[in-house]
Amino acid sequence: MTRQKLTILGATGSIGVSTLDVVARHPDRYEVIALTGNSRIEVLFTQCLQHRPRFAVVGDGKDVAGLTERLRANGLATEVLAGPAALERVASLPEVDAVMAAIVGAAGLQPTLAAVRAGKRILLANKEALVMGGALFMDEVRRHRAVLLPIDSEHNAVFQSLPADYAGDPARVGVRHILLTASGGPFRTTPLERLRQVTPAEACAHPNWSMGRKISVDSATMMNKGLEVIEARWLFNLTPEQIQVVIHPQSVIHSLVQYVDGSVLAELGNPDMRTPIAHALAWPVRIDAGVAPLDLPAIAQLNFERPDFERFPCLALAYRVLRAGGIAPTVLNAANEVAVAAFLEERLPFLAIADIIAATLDVIEPSAAIDLPTILAADAQARSVAHELIERRA
Ligand code: NAD
Ligand code: MG
Repeated sequence: MTRQKLTILGATGSIGVSTLDVVARHPDRYEVIALTGNSRIEVLFTQCLQHRPRFAVVGDGKDVAGLTERLRANGLATEVLAGPAALERVASLPEVDAVMAAIVGAAGLQPTLAAVRAGKRILLANKEALVMGGALFMDEVRRHRAVLLPIDSEHNAVFQSLPADYAGDPARVGVRHILLTASGGPFRTTPLERLRQVTPAEACAHPNWSMGRKISVDSATMMNKGLEVIEARWLFNLTPEQIQVVIHPQSVIHSLVQYVDGSVLAELGNPDMRTPIAHALAWPVRIDAGVAPLDLPAIAQLNFERPDFERFPCLALAYRVLRAGGIAPTVLNAANEVAVAAFLEERLPFLAIADIIAATLDVIEPSAAIDLPTILAADAQARSVAHELIERRA
């Protein structure tokens, strides 16, 4: 068997580490060509020792010489590169078959687009890339015949619950709508009054999933589900009305597809990202992900609730920008990244995250998201507006 050659963007993060865990279980199937990390150089160094990539990419040029020297001292010829251009280069190397897009936030858009334009198989964890530039991104996927496989557990579950020949046509295959499940995060039942004072540590303590800090806060505000609604719109070509959210605190059902005949298909499993990662890595075959089989009697109960749009205004904002279209989702994503970073640095209270996003959306003129420069300009403008709004509060 020829091995699949991989680039892992964001190797040092939560998804990156889980990806390398699955890869290490199947040395006969996968070969790592490039690993990228931003600032966690120690983790990247250890990963290089284990996976022996041809390239390693760091965020800051000042780390290149030191890492290169340590790799040489350990007998590795790995070439160390730095910066955004290097991310795009390793995402589009001719010898690479598949690219795991697991950088967090807007920083992932351009390297992921580079992989799309090189016609790779894209394993998409970086939902912000689709939220920022959905129409453009999907056009490029079609133009370059890239293969797009969702890693987000909900979208991976929907993908698995749709027919193989779905091809973005819900009516043809009898899809009525999809149901994205949401755990409700750590604050699903916290008294509203208490939410005023929650700390970054409390917001990052997710009941079911262990994840990076930004997505953990997004789960606590439910902006994560909002971003996922927008992600689903592009991945599956659905209208906002065809995308519903249901609270399911156990995170065992990862999402569902409702068909016109009344059938509902779903994917279930333990909440472990190695399942969707292994699914996308090996698709259309199945490989061991190292995940324990589901023990339903031990779980005993699966519960469901409707989402509370008042407790979680970020979810309502996501539907609002999806209906508005154009650059509105780009603005929402950028303002959210700025507000979440401020919350994590204890410069903004938890409940103000949604206020900053709503106020940023109010300030910026809506326009069509025509091309990449327009999208990047809207992202930059939204960041500066959100920063200013946060400053003004202080
Ligand atoms: P993380 O914070 O653990 O890791 C982020 C990775 O991106 C790190 O490797 C970091 O070095 C890199 N990175 C950060 N900023 C960068 C920059 N400016 N330039 C280059 N690289 C940069 O995040 P995560 O939890 O692994 O999430 C990664 C992506 O996957 C996010 O888009 C998230 O929404 C999505 N996702 C994560 C999970 C999960 O369980 N963790 C589930 C579904 C989707
Ligand atoms: Mg998800």
